[in-house]
Formats: sequence, structure tokens, C-alpha cells
Amino acid sequence: MTTTGDQQLVKRINRSVLLRLLWAQPSLSRARLAEKSGLTKSTVSALVRELLDERWIDEDNANVATAGVGRPSTPLHINGDLRVLIGLEVAVECLRMVCVSLTGQIISQTEQALQSHQPHLVCAQATGLVQGLCQALASRRLLLSGLGVCLPGAVDDESGVVRFAPNLTWRNVDFLAMLTQSLSTSDAPPVSIYLQNDADAAALSEYEFGADDKSDPLIFISCDVGVGAGVVLNDGLFTGALGVAGEIGHTILQIDGPLCSCGRSGCAETVIGSRALTSPEAIGRAGEFLGVLMQNLDATVNPRTLVLGGKTCVTHPELRDSAMQTLRRYAQAAGMPLPVLRAARYGLLAPAVGAAALVLHELLRPTRKRLPSALANPDCTAQRAQVSTQDHPAYSGARHVSWH
Ligand SMILES: [Zn+2]
Repeated sequence: MTTTGDQQLVKRINRSVLLRLLWAQPSLSRARLAEKSGLTKSTVSALVRELLDERWIDEDNANVATAGVGRPSTPLHINGDLRVLIGLEVAVECLRMVCVSLTGQIISQTEQALQSHQPHLVCAQATGLVQGLCQALASRRLLLSGLGVCLPGAVDDESGVVRFAPNLTWRNVDFLAMLTQSLSTSDAPPVSIYLQNDADAAALSEYEFGADDKSDPLIFISCDVGVGAGVVLNDGLFTGALGVAGEIGHTILQIDGPLCSCGRSGCAETVIGSRALTSPEAIGRAGEFLGVLMQNLDATVNPRTLVLGGKTCVTHPELRDSAMQTLRRYAQAAGMPLPVLRAARYGLLAPAVGAAALVLHELLRPTRKRLPSALANPDCTAQRAQVSTQDHPAYSGARHVSWH
């Protein structure tokens, strides 16, 4: 029987519904999945079979007796052992790469000084790192479900073009296409690639791999050479028309202030960015300014959770504490409740882990414009060198590309 495009999409949606239910509530049985999803038992049974075969999920050996009569049920789980995701952060001074399980456990991590800011050289260095990791995964027979990449700049969601990355001195760099091309000529296996801004990715590390209930809206503020915010709103990243949303480092805090890397004057980055933290006084001032930024974000987005991360928050915890104190003061003055405030769960690895989470985020939302491929096509594994992309031609040209 021939399946149509619509049927394929419906199937992907149904698969993602079951997977998301199992992420939220491990140990659900087929019967409970049918109940919660509204799908028929036979549909659930067929999809569960597929997901088991493709090693997205596994089942307990022991059945659990159900109340009353009826067959005992078998608890199902996301398979945290076999399928993995790669996350790669292109930072201003280094590349950080992680391999994580589907449930966010870090399996390996690597950091390498960035040899150049030239886009093609960054691509070459990144390709070498990914290629090496893929070989290690293949030798361990782990299945790769996708590669997520993030960097300190505004990424156009539709094209994968980096519009503006002042600290890399990039403008309109077609980075996703370049990296896809570079990887396609390497020994790395074919897999889906996703590209996003670093703070946006970091927000997904908290959202997708969070132990607690989904906290939405969620804001992740990243403080390093640059200062950025990732915003999760209505179960998705809020990136704006050109991918520039959340570039809080370039909101103006001082009219006619110091010149910023972006060309404007008085940006937040000129007082909070790590290059401005030259004395204890400067750090104290930066903490207060960061608190002002957080207050403005709180008033704009009204998040449930506000996470502070980035290298600066690790090397200068006093700056982070001062920012939180400033935000508390503003909240008290207005008699308003504070969002949940906390430090980044993955510390300095938040953007890299978040890049891996980006893969999952996109795969589990098949109705978005950028369709999944690895979830739809189980052949995208570390073991197989070839995969047909004929089933999903819509991927080319999007920020998410399969190389082949
Ligand atoms: Zn600026």
C-alpha cells in the first residue's frame, strides 16, 4: 500500500505524541498510552512496535498486574541507553561538544580552543570533532539521532544563515549550509543538523531535559563575552522575525555610553560582558545592570522560571547574586511575585547540551515548518552510512538539513 504525504505526517505526529507522553510519564503501558493520547489501541500497539524496533523506547521485562480483570500491562520507557544526540557549541574562544542520551545524561564532553574565527575554518574544525565522535559512537554501537549546533549570534530560522554574530565578526554567513557541506564530504554518517543561537539552545537544555514539569515561559540568560537570552514561550523558542529576539546584550542601558561590538553605543554588553569586568567595582556595577535587564525581561515576558548561566556566572558568582538581589528589590517595590530564579542546571555545558536538546525539540514537534527526519527515518544511525532523503525533500533550504 502506498502512503501519502498526509499519512506520513499523521504517523509522525502520532509517534511524537506517544514519545512525549513517555517523556513526561515514564512507565506508561500501551493501554494507558491509548487512553491518554486518544489513539486506538491497535494504532498505539503498531506504533509502539515500531518505536521498540527503532530503539526509541524499551519495555520492562516484568509485567505489572492491572487492577481488576484484564491482561497485565508492560511499562514502557524512553530508551536512555542506545540513542544519542550530539550538541556542539561554537563559543567565541572554543568549541564545546557533548554527546547526551535521549534523557539528557551526558555521555561524553570535549572542549577545544577555537583555531580561527573564519567561518570555513570553524566548519573544518567542527567537522573534525564531530567525525571523531561519530567514530567513537559507532564503535560503541550507539545510534545517533541528530546533531545540534549553536553559536553566539542571531540565526535566521528559515535559512540557517547567521545574520549577525558580532563577537565572531560574522554577518550573513550561510553557516548551516557550509557545515552540512563540510560534513557531507567527511566520514561522518548522514544525520539531521540543526542550528540555533547559543542562549536559545541553552534555554532548551532546561526545558527539554528538566526534571520537573515543563516551565513555560522560561528565560535563560547567558553571560559571557556577550550577553543573550533564550526564551521558551508556548512550547517553542521565541526567536523573532530575524532570529534576533533575546539579544539583550544589545539593549541600550546608557545613552551615549561606550561603543559596543555591534556598532551601537551604550549596549548592556559594554557593562555586563566579560570584557568589561576589569575591576571589583566594574563587577559590582555589572551585577546591578544585569538585575535591571532581568527586571525588564520579567516585565516584558513574565516568565515562570528565570535561569542564569554562562561563564561569567561561574567565575563571578557575586555578580549573579547581586543581579538576583536587584531583581528581588524591584519585585518588592512593586509588590509583585518573583519568577523561580536558579542557576543553569548544566553549568558551562548548557549551550552544548541545549544544542542536543534542540534536535529532540524539533523531532518531537512534527507540525512545525521544519519537519523531522531522524524520527521519521530510523536509518539515520551511526551504523549506517547511507540514507535516502527522497522522503523528505522539504528539508533542503531550511535551517535543518540532512546531509547525504
Ligand atoms: Zn551592542
